[in-house]
Formats: sequence, C-alpha cells, structure tokens
Amino acid sequence: MELLLPRACVGCGQDGSAWCPHCLEVEFDPVLHRPDPCPPMLPSLAAAATYSGSVRSAVLAAKERDRRELDRPLGAMLAAAVGLLITSEPVRASRLLPLWLVPVPASPAALRSRGRDHVSDWTRWTVRCLRAAKIAARCIPALRRTSSGLDSVGLDAAARAVNLRGAFALGRISAPPQGTILIVVDDIVTTGATLAAASICLSTGFDLDPEQLGAAVVAATQRHRAL
Ligand SMILES: [Zn+2]
Repeated sequence: MELLLPRACVGCGQDGSAWCPHCLEVEFDPVLHRPDPCPPMLPSLAAAATYSGSVRSAVLAAKERDRRELDRPLGAMLAAAVGLLITSEPVRASRLLPLWLVPVPASPAALRSRGRDHVSDWTRWTVRCLRAAKIAARCIPALRRTSSGLDSVGLDAAARAVNLRGAFALGRISAPPQGTILIVVDDIVTTGATLAAASICLSTGFDLDPEQLGAAVVAATQRHRAL
C-alpha cells in the first residue's frame, strides 16, 4: 500500500513527501540543551529540535505507526545534533575520534508492540550522514535493558531517576579503543533521566572520562514548571 498511496507530509498534510522541506525547515533548530532540573551525570546534550509541530508528528508516526520513510530525515536530524555536540565544549576540547553512537535500547515491551527498535534504525541513518561528512562514526549497541527498569510513563523526574537506576547494563561489547567518544542517542528527552542512566552505565562500565561522553536526541520537550 505504501507504494500505491501518495505520501502526505506529517506536518502540513500536503501530498508529495513524508516530511516536506518547508515543515522540516521550520522545525529544524539544533541546540545544546539542559533539562531543568538536570539529573546528575547527564553529559553534554544536543537536540535537533523542540518536540512540537511536525517534529512531534514525525517522531510519533515513525515510532508508533511504523512510518519508516521518516527514519532517514529523523536520522539526519540526529546527525546535525551530533555535529553540534562534537564541535562544542567540552567534547570538542578533546578532539577525539572515532565516534561511537550508542542507541538507547527499546524495552522488551516496546519491541514487542512496535516490532522494531526505532532509535537503532534512525541511528544507522545518522551514521551514514556523519560518514558522508568524513566523520568516523559507528552505531554500537553497547547497552541492553535489564529487568529492573519499569515503564516510567507518568512518573515525575525524581521517581523516574530512581526507577531507571540499574535499568541498563553493558552488552557483549569489547571496550572502545582509547580516546573514542561515545554518544548516547535517543528519540526525545524530557527529564534526562534515561540519558543519564545510560551514560552512567557506559561511563562506569568502560571507565570513560567525562569529555568522552555526550548525548544526542531528535527533540527536547519544553517542560513548564509549576510556580
Ligand atoms: Zn509539510
């Protein structure tokens, strides 16, 4: 059916492409981002956009409705976030390559319901974009979920952080070559607890220096703190 039906833009609904250049351009705005409050051990983080408008629609369509034709633009957005990260302090200071992109693994429940690990699929496109720019990036599935992290939907930031403690373990991956920069990749960031938990696992497991770690996401949610 995908081949027969005309594609409609996830933003404006216009036929022709899955995400039209106009909608993509409006949303695209890579920034270094800190959640507020920021969880301890969250590394330097870049987001390609704010989680709203057509970015939100594209993430949800690719994630929940299996719109795989959006993987490529979403992977390219992640590449822009990674590009910003590795040209900014503190990661830039080290100028260390190669680059390992480590996707946050989907939970077993999410894998069962969605049939795929969308962040890994997007990250493979990110690697292709970065390699086209002569950056020696690789997608390395260094993390796996443990059974201790339960679904954190509905929990506040503090409860989410506690819930995620010990949620990740290292996969069967040998240690990165000396000086490798590891960038944790996820779809969206809200409290930063997931990225922090994943980073702590990598940092302690591989004994990394702080400037060897970063994080990149497609989009950051705007949180409104109660006054
Ligand atoms: Zn559009």
